Amino acid sequence: MPNLSPPAHRDIDPAGIRREQLRLLFDVLPSALTASLVNTLLLSWVLYPITDSFLLLGWLSASLAISAYRFYLLRRFRPIADSDFEPSACSRAFFTGTLLAGMSWGFAGYVLFPQESGVHQIFVAFVIAGMTAGAAVTLAPMWRMAAAFMLPSVSLVVLRLLSLDWEVAPVMALMGLLFLATAMLIARRSYLFTLESIRIRFSRKETIAALAESNERTRRLLEGTADGIFGIDNDGVTSFVNPSATRMLGYSAEELVGKNNHAMIHHSHADGRPYPKDECRMLAPLIDGLPQQVDDEVLWRKDGSSFPAEYSATPLFSGDEVVGAVISFRDISERRHTDEALRLAATAFEAHEAIAITDLQGNILRINQAFTDITGYAEEEVLGHNPSILQSGRHGADFYEELWRTLNLSGHWEGEIWNRRKSGEVYPEWLSITAVRDEGGAVTHYIAHFQDITERKQAEAHIEYQAYFDALTELPNRRMLLERMEQEISRSRRHGHYGAVLFLDLDRFKTINDSLGHAVGDALLKEVAARIRRTLREEDMAARLGGDEFVVLLSELGDDPEHAAEAGREVAEKLRGVLAGNYDLEGRRLHTSPSIGIALFPLGDEGASDLLKQADIAMYRAKEQGRNAVHFYLPSMELDADERLILETDLRRALGEGGEMTLYYQPQLQSDGRLVGAEALVRWRHPQRGMLGPGEFLPVAEASGLLGELGEWVLGEACRALSRWQTEGLNVFPLAVNISPIQLQQENFVERVEQSLRESGADPQRLELEITEEMLLREQEKSIAKMHALRRDGVRFSIDDFGTGYSSLAYLRRLPATTLKIDRTFVTDVHVNANDAAIAETIISMGRHLEMMVLAEGVENAEQLSFLAERGCEVFQGYYFSRPLEESAFLAYAREHL
Ligand code: C2E
Ligand code: CA
Ligand code: CA
Repeated sequence: MPNLSPPAHRDIDPAGIRREQLRLLFDVLPSALTASLVNTLLLSWVLYPITDSFLLLGWLSASLAISAYRFYLLRRFRPIADSDFEPSACSRAFFTGTLLAGMSWGFAGYVLFPQESGVHQIFVAFVIAGMTAGAAVTLAPMWRMAAAFMLPSVSLVVLRLLSLDWEVAPVMALMGLLFLATAMLIARRSYLFTLESIRIRFSRKETIAALAESNERTRRLLEGTADGIFGIDNDGVTSFVNPSATRMLGYSAEELVGKNNHAMIHHSHADGRPYPKDECRMLAPLIDGLPQQVDDEVLWRKDGSSFPAEYSATPLFSGDEVVGAVISFRDISERRHTDEALRLAATAFEAHEAIAITDLQGNILRINQAFTDITGYAEEEVLGHNPSILQSGRHGADFYEELWRTLNLSGHWEGEIWNRRKSGEVYPEWLSITAVRDEGGAVTHYIAHFQDITERKQAEAHIEYQAYFDALTELPNRRMLLERMEQEISRSRRHGHYGAVLFLDLDRFKTINDSLGHAVGDALLKEVAARIRRTLREEDMAARLGGDEFVVLLSELGDDPEHAAEAGREVAEKLRGVLAGNYDLEGRRLHTSPSIGIALFPLGDEGASDLLKQADIAMYRAKEQGRNAVHFYLPSMELDADERLILETDLRRALGEGGEMTLYYQPQLQSDGRLVGAEALVRWRHPQRGMLGPGEFLPVAEASGLLGELGEWVLGEACRALSRWQTEGLNVFPLAVNISPIQLQQENFVERVEQSLRESGADPQRLELEITEEMLLREQEKSIAKMHALRRDGVRFSIDDFGTGYSSLAYLRRLPATTLKIDRTFVTDVHVNANDAAIAETIISMGRHLEMMVLAEGVENAEQLSFLAERGCEVFQGYYFSRPLEESAFLAYAREHL
């Protein structure tokens, strides 16, 4: 409730009173001056005929001067009398003026006293008595002033009377003194009265000011307080409400005042149960007159929401009777949250994670139960100690320095650390340390949390093992293999050496697994893994991809690709030998063999999975060619699967129906421009895709097993062309035909070629078969025998793409080939790249040595031509002379250049 107690008594300011007195004096001064002036002039005029005029004029001018001075005072001080001016100077001047005026009238009574004329005497006495009486009234506000006027004015007249030798003079003097005393008394009383009334007025003014101030204070208190406050009368009707209350409740003051607010803000409990008015603790003081303090209820806002509130209800009394109550309330949701947060923090502190709190110096202030559980130290053993008692000695000083540096810099450190339990056991923990800062940002504490991660680490190691190893064979799995391959590839690139990836697949494994059961299958895989491991060098890696697929990674096979291929091949053959054969497993004897694909690296910019795919493709080739074989990867083996399927269907149809396949012929010339032969290159006039080159469909043909059929058509068509040209008398030969590995490996290859020649009637001597080095890598002896057989018929052989394969000179010597074709890749830069030039030169000299003709493919300009011709190359093929041409165009070209 507002404090309305009376204002504290204040001493009345004496200067203020003097100012008030002076103000009253100035108020009447104009009339006093007027009266004085009138009386002065009147007196002069009356006395003039009987008085010494010099004396009279002297008095008159002195009187007028005094009046002027007092008038000046009026002008000077009256305007400031309302303000807080300093009264002493003013009152001194006023006193002087008043004294002079009193003396001037006393002088008039003494000097100008008309001794001879009784009538004039009476006049003078009247004037002076009148002036004195007036002064008693007008100067009464300041007793001093009244005295200053009256004493000289009357006493001089009294003195004058005593100086006369009149009989009545002493009596008259006595009467004068009596008058003076009476006037002084009246003035004094009037003075006291005035003073009192001034005092009363002053104190009332101050009381009012103090009251207003007190009210203002109360109002500000009510409005400024954060607590909601409202008053109710003894019927529970709201009588006033402060702004905080309206803000918190969402109602305006008008909506609350004059109403019974229980139904508005206090109708229900927190859980929604209704809160009957007669149970309301807020209203209880109205009944029992006792104050209430409540902190477990809610108040309701206008919008229907509620907030937890704490309130006090205080009864108001008038005498013994309760006349109302004042309710003060506050929203305690914040406090509830804090309580909750504290409770949560306390719970969290006793969590599963160990926690230690240290001061700035690192002394432990608090730990939790988990800390004791993990470290074995009880609270009293570590309080006040540094956590360094836990150090395991496994980390050097640098480690802790780095830890503190990070912590000081970022306020946080987290990581794995080895600590020691009380028992001496060293264990790994995951530790995170956080610096706690005060509001100013200065670090005050550190909080360390940690978990024992022994089990986690074991699990991780296990998971890691599982992630990288195959459970059955305990060989590394695909993931580990790929990681190692990536490392190996980039290492090889850096150091300029080669490596190889061998892709192994067991032949007929599925049949074994299906017919003999998984146990046998698993045992077989384990045995295969063991055999592979036994065969490999320490630095090589064997991995199992899944099923019956194994991969071997051979690293550091030297800086020569040919040698690396040789080495890869050797290992592959060795593996093939070790794995092919009998297995005695679970009382059974089985037989299996591997198909192995090899991909060398680094050849281009392929990554690990590319390489794996290449080796896989090569492995398929090995399988297609009769299993238990080793096959190198060739770039032409790849093609997108979907594309492959579509093309395959088309190709099958094209080969069946005929008419879409055609041969183009590319001339082969001597350096003097004379045509000496041609190469037949297949084209597919695809009804939708237009003319397709062999690069676009040969891989499909190969993958779908159509290559043999295609090759037979090409061979047949080439022979027919030869025979046509023969009968036309055109001596264009030899005509070279590209032979695919599939064809060469066909058992009846020799017969088929012979048949084609026979059926077409072409001269075998005019036919040349192009084979590549790789084609001879497997089934070498058989292939060489087939070549010899055909060679005896007169058919010629050329080694295509020579230089890209891995054949040795000794090996080449056994081949009944007649021509070496320098691969296009060496020709392209032969005149600018010393390396390519050296290869080309070597091939040329090898050819001479082996008595073979050397042909350069892909000659595109005169520079290449002259460079190669100068070094002994005899025949050339390439765009520089002509692109592959369709038959009629070719024949026209041939007629020109024969
Ligand atoms: P290849 O046996 O090395 O044939 C030479 C390839 O080089 C041809 O490509 C030819 O058009 C191209 N060529 C010739 N001169 C130049 C030149 O100056 N510059 C450039 N950049 N290229 C030149 P094509 O016809 O696309 O044949 C690609 C490959 O397809 C052949 O390489 C061959 O391995 C294979 N191929 C072509 N026809 C047959 C076929 O009837 N049977 C089989 N099995 N393979 C074939
Ligand atoms: Ca060729
Ligand atoms: Ca070639």
